[in-house]
Amino acid sequence: MAEFTMELNDEQREVRDWIHGFAADVIRPAAAEWDEREETPWPVIQEAAKVGIYSLDFYAQQYFDPTGLGIPMAMEELFWGDAGIALSIVGTGLAAVGVLANGTEEQIGTWIPQMYGDANDVKVAAFCSSEPDAGSDVASMRTRAVYDEAKDEWVLNGTKTWATNGGIANVHVVVAVIDSELGSKGHASFIIPPNTPGLSQGQKFKKHGIRASHTAEVVLEDVRVPGSCLLGGKEKLDERLARARERARAGGGERLKNAAMATFEASRPAVGAMAVGTARAAYEVALDYAKTRSQFGRPIIDNQGVAFQLADMRTSIDAARLLVWRASWMAVNGKQFTSAEGSMSKLFASETAKKVTGQAIQILGGNGYTREYPVERMHRDAAIYTIFEGTSEIQRLVIARTLSGMPIR
Ligand SMILES: Cc1cc2nc3c(=O)[nH]c(=O)nc-3n(C[C@H](O)[C@H](O)[C@H](O)COP(=O)(O)OP(=O)(O)OC[C@H]3O[C@@H](n4cnc5c(N)ncnc54)[C@H](O)[C@@H]3O)c2cc1C
Repeated sequence: MAEFTMELNDEQREVRDWIHGFAADVIRPAAAEWDEREETPWPVIQEAAKVGIYSLDFYAQQYFDPTGLGIPMAMEELFWGDAGIALSIVGTGLAAVGVLANGTEEQIGTWIPQMYGDANDVKVAAFCSSEPDAGSDVASMRTRAVYDEAKDEWVLNGTKTWATNGGIANVHVVVAVIDSELGSKGHASFIIPPNTPGLSQGQKFKKHGIRASHTAEVVLEDVRVPGSCLLGGKEKLDERLARARERARAGGGERLKNAAMATFEASRPAVGAMAVGTARAAYEVALDYAKTRSQFGRPIIDNQGVAFQLADMRTSIDAARLLVWRASWMAVNGKQFTSAEGSMSKLFASETAKKVTGQAIQILGGNGYTREYPVERMHRDAAIYTIFEGTSEIQRLVIARTLSGMPIR
């Protein structure tokens, strides 16, 4: 187990500075354009692939940093550049993690390279779990997967929504119901290979923020995939379902537990780190502005009303980062989240990003309210952190249930 230290080592500093350079030189200058275009910034993803930031190797290296700080550091810097573009760069990772967590070695080797493509022909992937009637309450998912034994194929039907990269992905990872009696224990994940008939993009959403990231419905109509596309394989699924049925007979597994499980434990600190990146970006703009903008014959930061806001903003950002780092260190070192520390980090960091970006607008006055300055975009972007990967309310539910051991609703 790695010693926990607040001091980045030389290698980590080098990686952080390298990612920061890419965020400052490539991502930030492109941010306003792709926000207005509301399109996937393919040229920026390609640049990221060329320098090695858009690849599984890059994330694997950061993930296996034994201090746990590799991923949060990378996320903070990329999202400091711009949240919408950064999500376009890291969105594939959510689907890749789905395969890494549940797939066989063969599935990992076959599908992950197809999710990323290569620098000359970049691809993206999508992770499709949410549905119109199953957001926080994952257990009410309706998309069905039925096994056709004669052909060794699975047939999927249903509608997914809110899928980052949905419909434009080369590879989709789709969560579907096998046994509806078992709630989320009766779900399984499937690879939908490129160009599979029956999968189509539904509505593309016009969003409040992170507009450079593509979000859409994914419609599945009699989508047939080979048996080998069931992540983890049929034998493992059958064993898992048998265990879940046994437990259900013994009286376990209530619905609210499943609602809490709508969030993805392992990815919470990473989302917290994204929020820290956005918050820090807005804080820096506000600090700079407060030092250079003069009213009443002096810089506005000379007023405690402004300076104290900046002091609070920076304090919250640092506190958020520490919660994120702690949870990331715990995750990498296999520590039990006995107080839902992952959820705490995501909750605090995302609420901080929303608040701090709002304060930044206030400090910039009228300019803060326009698209001439980036804090307006950052504030719109920040709102997503309290919604995806489990809303703030769901994080509080998880924390409260974990702390109390009570079935709080
Ligand atoms: C831009 C964007 C990208 C996304 N990307 C993906 C993706 O790639 N893949 C994917 O599968 N999903 C994705 N999502 C979906 C996201 O995870 C869901 O939006 C989220 O889980 C909330 O679900 P919902 O929108 O249905 O809200 P609901 O679950 O309907 O919640 C509505 C409100 O009710 C509150 N609420 C619900 N239940 C409770 C409760 N028990 N106690 C207290 N309050 C409660 C919520 O906190 C929220 O405030 C994305 C969403 C967005 C907006």
